Amino acid sequence: MQETDAIASVPTGLFIGGQWRQAARTMPVEDPSTGRVLCEVADADPDEAMAALDAAAAAQGSWAATAPRERSEILGRAYDLIIEQQERLALIMTLEMGKPLAEARGEVAYAAEFFRWFAEEAVRIDGGYMPAPAGGSRFLVMRQPVGPSILITPWNFPMAMGTRKIGPAIAAGCTSVIKPAAQTPLSTLALADILVQAGLPDGVVNVVTTSRSDDVMTPLILDARSRKLSFTGSTPVGKHLLELAAKTVMRTSMELGGNAPFLVFADADLDVAVDGAMQAKMRNIGQACTAANRILVHRDLAAEFADRLTDRMGELALGRGVEDGVVVGPLINRAAVDKVHGLVRDAVARGARTRIGGEPVDRPGYFYPATVLTDVPPEAELSSTEIFGPVAAITPFDTEEEAVSLANDTPYGLISYVFTRDLTRALRVSEALEAGMVGLNQGVVSNPAAPFGGIKESGLGREGGFSGIDEFLETKYVGISMRE
Ligand code: NAP
Repeated sequence: MQETDAIASVPTGLFIGGQWRQAARTMPVEDPSTGRVLCEVADADPDEAMAALDAAAAAQGSWAATAPRERSEILGRAYDLIIEQQERLALIMTLEMGKPLAEARGEVAYAAEFFRWFAEEAVRIDGGYMPAPAGGSRFLVMRQPVGPSILITPWNFPMAMGTRKIGPAIAAGCTSVIKPAAQTPLSTLALADILVQAGLPDGVVNVVTTSRSDDVMTPLILDARSRKLSFTGSTPVGKHLLELAAKTVMRTSMELGGNAPFLVFADADLDVAVDGAMQAKMRNIGQACTAANRILVHRDLAAEFADRLTDRMGELALGRGVEDGVVVGPLINRAAVDKVHGLVRDAVARGARTRIGGEPVDRPGYFYPATVLTDVPPEAELSSTEIFGPVAAITPFDTEEEAVSLANDTPYGLISYVFTRDLTRALRVSEALEAGMVGLNQGVVSNPAAPFGGIKESGLGREGGFSGIDEFLETKYVGISMRE
């Protein structure tokens, strides 16, 4: 499929109450690999966005009453349609976000899997019945949809972060308004089109695209009809949204930023550790909440690990994500390149050594090369900041205690990686790490069937797994008298 045909296939309006509506204004969507505008999409104002919440609120009653099997089958059909259209959807994603096509195909499949998983979960919402411990009465526990939900997603995984929220919302019987990031609205708009093809009733999912997220989303979040806020994005924005949500004591799920430590112990299998580091660092061009931010390697292995990682990073082709063999696509925008370069310069000024990369690439688009830094001091700014770019920062350590202490020395707690062949150490360190997830001898943990999420300032709640649907369900207890 041609690039222009893929872009032309995406509806560009607001999706409200099952209809595509034009907005008074439009906003451009850019290809970060060229800096050129791909198309214009609707740029909602607060009133236009409120119409989406009106539609979600109006549809909530009938959607909650829809048979779980029917909700499940809609998700199942949407799964099939996404897989059938994988190539087109991957091309759209690569064009708006920059990731290489192979990774975009992977994300489309991963995104579809959330629909398959939650299609299976929709028909397993259960409850409970038990006698009161003192006897005399019974407890009936039922689980009901939370209600209209506001879903806000980031630009780095533009489709999977959407299906990870829309899937459980649909399965649980919640209607929603989803707002994708302004940089990458097309994947969500294409997804809405697929949900229509899958037979989703009007108003169950509504899409608002806007360049003024604060002005437009604040009234929706503060509206008493919204009962749930599910946000994936940065920690500062998450904190701001939590404050807003507090005003109506709204249920929240927060998937926020990370600062993943990647620990390689002296007994690690070096081949496995280097493979894991390549995945944990370079997935999504380093722009993942799960990206290995601080690579901590036992001093005995640090030099060889750095040599091998430098060789592997040096082999990676840089270019537009649509080109064959490219692994290092562009970053999302100019500000991202400037931020990454600032962090590299700071680390070097504090004594880190540049093994490869380290200078922005002079070509159209927003490119930064694969970079390896060694001997990064823990006080370097990048040790406490999400790098969000293809920069591997290696710091040596001497003892397990020091490694765990460095790893936990951050307000974030999304994921940690541990590479060791010693089972006892693996379990001891996994228990000691302050993180919602641990990758043990593997560089990727994301899986729709697993509970994804962080602790500390990395978030609240879990997405995926058996707990994913709980985020969209309320528990109601009915106390039953058994007196005659
Ligand atoms: P971001 O700037 O926090 O934005 C995330 C979303 O929130 C976007 O849709 C954004 O829209 C919107 N937004 C920003 N300010 C808002 C406001 N005041 N009111 C309502 N909505 C608002 O994050 P990002 O740069 O897109 O994404 C990168 C961040 O997401 C990183 O920190 C990464 O670690 C995190 N992330 C976490 C996970 C996870 O599962 N834990 C997964 C992926 C990414 P606009 O951009 O259009 O303003």
